[in-house]
Amino acid sequence: MSRTVYLNGAYVPEEEAMVSVFDRGFLFADGIYEVTAVLDGKICEFEGHVKRLERSLGVLDMPMPVDKDELLEIHRELVKRNNLDQGAIYLQVTRGAADRDFVYPKNVKQTLVLFTQAKTLTDDKAGIKVIAAPDIRWGRRDVKTVQLLAPSMCKMMAKAAGKDDAWMVEDGFVTEGSSNNAYIVTKEGKIVTRNLSNSILHGITRSSVLRIAAEMDMEIEERAFTIAEAQDAAEAFITAATTFVCPVLEIDGATIGDGKPGPVATRLNTVYIEEARKGAI
Ligand code: PMP
Repeated sequence: MSRTVYLNGAYVPEEEAMVSVFDRGFLFADGIYEVTAVLDGKICEFEGHVKRLERSLGVLDMPMPVDKDELLEIHRELVKRNNLDQGAIYLQVTRGAADRDFVYPKNVKQTLVLFTQAKTLTDDKAGIKVIAAPDIRWGRRDVKTVQLLAPSMCKMMAKAAGKDDAWMVEDGFVTEGSSNNAYIVTKEGKIVTRNLSNSILHGITRSSVLRIAAEMDMEIEERAFTIAEAQDAAEAFITAATTFVCPVLEIDGATIGDGKPGPVATRLNTVYIEEARKGAI
């Protein structure tokens, strides 16, 4: 069945949603995106995603294409028109279409696209296996641009090895997963995840999960860790908007703990989903 997507002010069948060949998103990856989870037909973590969108656009000297209220309205209208109970809403803003030039064009109308993806998000997490892969991305990973070829290549390396995903490594330390933040739980029960910087995306789920863990009186250490430390950990897991908290059972061939989803990741996933549901709008 064809979806209804949003394109520059109009709700149109996906087959009719067309963007110019001169769009700078297409020519320069000159665009920002967000992916927001939908639970029970409601938008999760809306506030966080809008804030990050505004920040990412700001780094590229772009304004918000529409204000926050209108953005929420578009999300809700898409959920309604596509009968979405559970899944994701993908949003992309580009600088717009202009003759090809490295200089940012002036007075160009931004392109704003949103579409839904139906997907069950709340099923039990079986866990994933990851490989280590060199982090070959650019230096501003805190900006959520649409240039996703490097993580896509990492994902393909993982698939070629018969695994699910890759943990990217730079200067000997794990940065993050191809499209998620990475964590370990030490044998002492401490949660370790990379500190915020330009080296990683500042995950919205990361922020909530760390808050929940702190409320559960868990110890948290925000610092870089190596693949070897991760392989020796009691647990490992990832977080992302539509993955929530997902256990990692194997890292580069080494089984983590007893190879089954651990209690910390499982508990954090349950509580995170409860809270995301409560906060959804
Ligand atoms: N890191 C990267 C590289 C990502 O692509 C994502 C998902 N967009 C995340 C982390 C997780 O971020 P969030 O929790 O906001 O989805």
